[in-house]
Amino acid sequence: MASFAGHGTTAPASSHTYLNFESDQNPFGGRQFLNVGTNEHVYLTILTVDLVLFPNAILPLLTRGEAEKQIIEEIIGTKPLDLLRPGRFERDLSLEHRKGFFGVCLRTGSGVAKVGTLAEIYRHGRFEQIDLVDDDDEVQGGSDGTVDVNIVAKGRKRFEIVKLSGVLTSRMMVAIIRLLPDGENTKLPKEHPHSAVPRFVWKMHDCSDLLQKIIVNMCKNGLQTLAEKMPHGTPCTKSFWLAINLPLSVPLKYEMLTLKSTFHRLNFVHKYLESMSIETFACKYCRSPFCRPSDVFSMSDEGVTAAYVNPQGYVHQIMTLKTVNMDAISTSGEAVTEHSWFPGFAWTIINCIVCGNHFGWMFTAVDDSCHPSKFFGIRKDAVIVWNNLPVVDRAMPVLAAPVPTG
Ligand SMILES: [Zn+2]
Repeated sequence: MASFAGHGTTAPASSHTYLNFESDQNPFGGRQFLNVGTNEHVYLTILTVDLVLFPNAILPLLTRGEAEKQIIEEIIGTKPLDLLRPGRFERDLSLEHRKGFFGVCLRTGSGVAKVGTLAEIYRHGRFEQIDLVDDDDEVQGGSDGTVDVNIVAKGRKRFEIVKLSGVLTSRMMVAIIRLLPDGENTKLPKEHPHSAVPRFVWKMHDCSDLLQKIIVNMCKNGLQTLAEKMPHGTPCTKSFWLAINLPLSVPLKYEMLTLKSTFHRLNFVHKYLESMSIETFACKYCRSPFCRPSDVFSMSDEGVTAAYVNPQGYVHQIMTLKTVNMDAISTSGEAVTEHSWFPGFAWTIINCIVCGNHFGWMFTAVDDSCHPSKFFGIRKDAVIVWNNLPVVDRAMPVLAAPVPTG
């Protein structure tokens, strides 16, 4: 295990070094996606996942199986199009224009959520499967000593599926999409002493004002550490950062992704924080409290929540915490350094002591130069926010499952 010195709590994981990339470069150099307007309809390869990807969020991926590997290699451009492949669509001939891009949509049962995010691949390499027994029953895909393609992609722009065209693999399909605008979109004139818009109306649509209220509410809810980590940038950037980092359930995250402007997203966060008092994070299944929002901290420059992929290709969304209630967890197995998402740290599986739910991992430094000496990576889909209020959640609008073709 390679060690690193002097990193403290900064960014050891953000580059996803555990994926063993050969090159460190964005092969596409920030190209525009087709230069299309927000109303133009275009074909796009869609990957369905169990999480909501927002613009600016990072998604690491390992391909599963030969068909998926070939599709990703075609998108990257390291392999020519196989026009004879069964199920190949005529529109894939225009793939050249979409090189480096694919769409990411939340999988909902057998369907797919209507709104997704365009992702741009900025690192890729080949990943030799290692013989590693993983945590639980989430082992998926064919990992039998074969070489897979790994990529790291970044969310770019929201889109809406207009029509599903057909299925490529169990989690990939082709769809006609249109890009959605993400901007401030308030359509209000600048504040002006003689403006026809009353000041209170202008104030209601003021994103900076909303952000200040959000920060106050985050502090009230024990999320001060998180509030302090909010990056500089436009209200739009901050609204997506909040969507990525706040402890929102998947349906709430999806609802936030569908909102049409920065103002709507910030207003959503404001109402959410106003309506709740976050006391603790609890086990999703047995509701045993085991960690506190005030202990979240950042182990990567992606924020306190980031996605990581395990050797079997399963993507976990992980929230990092300084400490958890050790009486509420049990550990399973030995500390392992292989394939650690955090170089210099060994991982140990942690479970709910009551029901055995796989909470995530305890990371312990294997080197004196690594700080902190111990921290916890908690799977976001293993926990719920626990408070005295009824759980408010939303049903997700989905498209019907596509009909397989070819
Ligand atoms: Zn439990």
